[in-house]
Amino acid sequence: MSVPIDLHCHSTMSDGLLSPEELVAHAASKGVRVLALTDHDEVSGLARARAAAEQQGISFIDGVEISVTWRKRTLHVVGLRVNPQHPALLAAFATVRQGRDARARQIAEGLAKAGIADAYEGARECSGNSVMTRSHFAQFMVKRGHAKNVKSVFKKYMVKGKPGYVNHEWMNLDEAMQLIRESGGVAVLAHPGRYDLGFVNMHLLLNEFRDLGGAAIEVVTGSHQPPQYEQFAKLAHRFDLKASQGSDYHGPGMSYMDMGRLPALPAGCVPVWQDWPEASQLQASVS
Ligand code: AMP
Ligand code: MN
Ligand code: MN
Ligand code: MN
Repeated sequence: MSVPIDLHCHSTMSDGLLSPEELVAHAASKGVRVLALTDHDEVSGLARARAAAEQQGISFIDGVEISVTWRKRTLHVVGLRVNPQHPALLAAFATVRQGRDARARQIAEGLAKAGIADAYEGARECSGNSVMTRSHFAQFMVKRGHAKNVKSVFKKYMVKGKPGYVNHEWMNLDEAMQLIRESGGVAVLAHPGRYDLGFVNMHLLLNEFRDLGGAAIEVVTGSHQPPQYEQFAKLAHRFDLKASQGSDYHGPGMSYMDMGRLPALPAGCVPVWQDWPEASQLQASVS
């Protein structure tokens, strides 16, 4: 039995391809009943998405996906039910935005050395006014014909050891957790299966995350392979954390999983939305 709730996706306010309104319309067309928008380090799409969700009869959750540096690795922490107007949140994201812009210039320098000119301007054209992400560089390079799709640009240029990779210092886990707490939200560790942590580091991370007040980990996500659903359901249980689910949808052709196609959480998981009024009307349906 699956429930039509999706707590992780992106709009044009970060690296998604659909505007907040288009994204909500897409979610509605796929049967999603409760939706959180979680742009990278950015809350500026939430008011538009909420207004669109009201029109479509979807319950909307204010969310964000925060980039974090933990023990020299990049992790993502999703904040759900945050207050998008909270001054501390807005101030922190303004700083991240500046950092992203500086990183983008360094990325462009690296790419220039590899023979790809004007990448900053090209990525900026793809990002518009929103935060600059590696995905925008990837989109620009696909357009330019440097690779056939976004995935292969990442492989060839944008990951560790490649010319468009820059080691960037994001906020630390402590700060991210504090921001989420202060702004009234709950913290969810995004796609833990993607970090390639060994057993010891994963256990260290989950301990630390729980001790800092973390509420849940993503168990069913478009960023996990199906065998990882059970694996992380067990870890959630062991660390006394709830479970979340989300597609991590970025738009047509840019995602592993479409909206409205999430399988049910494994038996025994406590859903992060268990006590939410927004989710009280949710009906489980046969998947
Ligand atoms: P950034 O936060 O700017 O470093 O960009 C990270 C974003 O790039 C992620 O949220 C994904 O949307 C995208 N991304 C990261 N790795 C890959 C990959 N291997 N293939 C495609 N997209 C990726
Ligand atoms: Mn992304
Ligand atoms: Mn992520
Ligand atoms: Mn995401």
